[in-house]
Amino acid sequence: MAVARDLYDVLGVPRDASDDDIRKAYRRLARELHPDVSADPETEERFKEVAGAYEILSDPEKRARYDAFGTAGPGGQPFADISDIFETFFGQGGFGGFGGSRRRGPRTRTRRGEDVGVLLRLSFEEAAFGVRREVQLERLETCDRCLGNGAEPGTAPIACRTCGGTGEVQSVRRSVFGTLMTASPCGTCQGTGQEIPDRCETCLGQGRLRRPATVTVDIPAGVSDGMELRVAGNGHAGISGGSNGDLFVRLDVDEATRFDRRGQDLYAVLDITVTQASLGGEVTIAGIDGDERVRIEAGTESGTIVRLKGKGVPNLNRRGRGDLYVTLHVLTPKGLSREERQLLARLAELRGEPRDGAAAAELRRPEF
Ligand code: ZN
Repeated sequence: MAVARDLYDVLGVPRDASDDDIRKAYRRLARELHPDVSADPETEERFKEVAGAYEILSDPEKRARYDAFGTAGPGGQPFADISDIFETFFGQGGFGGFGGSRRRGPRTRTRRGEDVGVLLRLSFEEAAFGVRREVQLERLETCDRCLGNGAEPGTAPIACRTCGGTGEVQSVRRSVFGTLMTASPCGTCQGTGQEIPDRCETCLGQGRLRRPATVTVDIPAGVSDGMELRVAGNGHAGISGGSNGDLFVRLDVDEATRFDRRGQDLYAVLDITVTQASLGGEVTIAGIDGDERVRIEAGTESGTIVRLKGKGVPNLNRRGRGDLYVTLHVLTPKGLSREERQLLARLAELRGEPRDGAAAAELRRPEF
C-alpha cells in the first residue's frame, strides 16, 4: 500500500455513514476478500486495506480524528494515542462526548458537530515558552436565519413522510438464518426523521453555514512538534441542538538552529581551543533564555559533555525544565605561522613527546 487511500472509499461508504453502515460494509467485504476464500495475493492486500480502514472507522475516537485531519499520518497509523496530552492540556476526563452520538446505532436527530483540524506553525521559542495565538479556520456555524432547523422563518420541518419521523426504514431480508428484519437509515431524510417543505433561503435547508472564524489558543510552555491540542466546542456546530465538535490544533514546531531538542533536553556543540582545553577556564554562551556560563576543566578531552542542569525546555504542565548538554569540541589549530609551529615544537620537546616518525604509540582497545 504505497499511497493511503481514503478510508471511506476503501469500505465504499459515504463520509456520514453510520456505525452500522460501516460494520455492514466491512462484513460484506470481509466475506468477499477473506484469505480463506481467495488465495490471490492482490485480494489479500485488499483485505488488509479493508481491515485497516475498519479498525479506524469503527472506533469513534479514531474516526473523529481521521475526519478532522483528512488523511492518515505516516505509516498508516493515524494519530496514535494522544488522549493523554489532551487531558493534560484541558484537564478534562478524556474525550467525554467525543463522537458520542456516533457510538449509538441508529442516528438520532440531535447530532454532535464534526471536529475540525488545523495546523499551527510555531517557532522553537514559542513552543518552549508558550504563546497565545489566533488561529484562523473555516467551520460550519448554525444558520442565524433559521436558527439551525433549516426551515424558512415562520415555517417548520415536518415528520418525514417516508419513515414517519423515525429516521429508519425496516426491510425484510432473506438469509441463511431465515427471514431477518433489518432497520436502516431512511434515505429520504438521511435518518433525521424530518422533511423541510420550505427550505431556509440562506442555508438552503442545511441549518449550518461555512464561515471563517478566529479562535484564540493558549499554547502552554514545553509543547513539541506533532502534538495536538483540543479546543473543546470550537469545531463545527452541532445539528438540531447537538453540541459543537472540537477544534484540534496540530503543532508544527520549527527546529532550533543552535540546538537539537530531544524531549525537554537540548543538545549543542561548543568549539573550544586547545589552550582552553589544556588550561581550563570559563566561557559564556547564549542559552535559550539568556547567557549561561560553561566551566571548562583543565585537561578537557574533545567530546566531553557538560550538563547545564535546568537550562533546557520547560516541562509541559509541571515545574522544572530539561537540561542543556554541551559537547565540547577541541579545535586543532590549522594554518600555523612559522612562529606558532616553533612554539608547538618547543612544547612537544618540553613534554618529551615523540617526534615525527618516532616509535609507534601503543594501540589500546576502544571504550564505548
Ligand atoms: Zn438557515
